[in-house]
Amino acid sequence: MCSITQISRIAIWQHIKKLQKLGYIIEAKRGVGYKLTQNPPDLLNLYEIEKLKHTTAVENIFFFENTTSTMDEAKKISENNKNLAHKSLIVALNQTQGRGRKNRHWLSFGENIYASYIYLPKNLMPQDGLFVMFAGCIAIVLALKQIGIDAKIKWPNDCLVSDKKIAGVLVDAKSDISSIDEIIIGFGVNINWADIPEETNATSVYEVTKKTTDRLFILDKIVQYLEALIKLIENKRKSNIIKLWRLYDTTLSRKVEIISDSKKIIGKASDIDEYGFLLVETQNGIQRIITSDSVRFL
Ligand code: ATP
Repeated sequence: MCSITQISRIAIWQHIKKLQKLGYIIEAKRGVGYKLTQNPPDLLNLYEIEKLKHTTAVENIFFFENTTSTMDEAKKISENNKNLAHKSLIVALNQTQGRGRKNRHWLSFGENIYASYIYLPKNLMPQDGLFVMFAGCIAIVLALKQIGIDAKIKWPNDCLVSDKKIAGVLVDAKSDISSIDEIIIGFGVNINWADIPEETNATSVYEVTKKTTDRLFILDKIVQYLEALIKLIENKRKSNIIKLWRLYDTTLSRKVEIISDSKKIIGKASDIDEYGFLLVETQNGIQRIITSDSVRFL
């Protein structure tokens, strides 16, 4: 190793220590050398995430051990980079101010996925934003399916397992009248979160499977599916997104309470329309929900 790398034994030992600290399992044998025996079941660091450049269309990766939120980092990155790549991924190990819709707090405890994907589209319209949110939810559901988790989508931005929230998607778009210039898709997916407080209606992959899951595997799948689904939207095949959304949805046919601009609407979620808006059958007829503060199942 010393002759290949042209560095001293001590320097090699220091690097090995760093790698062990990152979680790699490396055996040291006096007089023989070092051996990478096995990879731990979940290892997330910049070196590992960089592998996504080979499996997805992501061009730039930004990694933070600690941050306020990947959405904040995404905004800063986009503001400070005039020549931003068309597809960038921001990943954090910890967030102190993760957020959901309407600036609600997104609990970011535990070894979960906290990521934002910045995309500079060529062919997205302002009205496609909701479909990109659906694409994010479908991508998460499909990724979780790969490890046997049966997640469902709750309109507009959540993924649930047995009616408990396992993931949420957030979309911020910069657009003018006719097109979206930049879209940031944030997603929090509860993966190896073991001690979920009773009072939250959250769940995690760990809670369902009782074993540690490789976050990188799930992140890789989410990004791959997300890219394919966004392509469908760009190619004017939004009806396919609606079909997939319906396949994995758990909102329709249920009695819901929607709070929207301090107005409460109670009724049966009957469908989504061609724009992705929720249709609710109420005593006063069908109401079309364009935006909501909260959607609760009754
Ligand atoms: P609603 O379901 O009422 O329409 P929402 O799903 O749109 O709301 P978001 O803004 O997407 O809510 O997410 C924030 C909410 O999710 C918080 O108010 C909290 O109830 C819940 N929450 C926060 N952190 C987590 C987490 N890590 N996992 C699951 N749920 C969480």
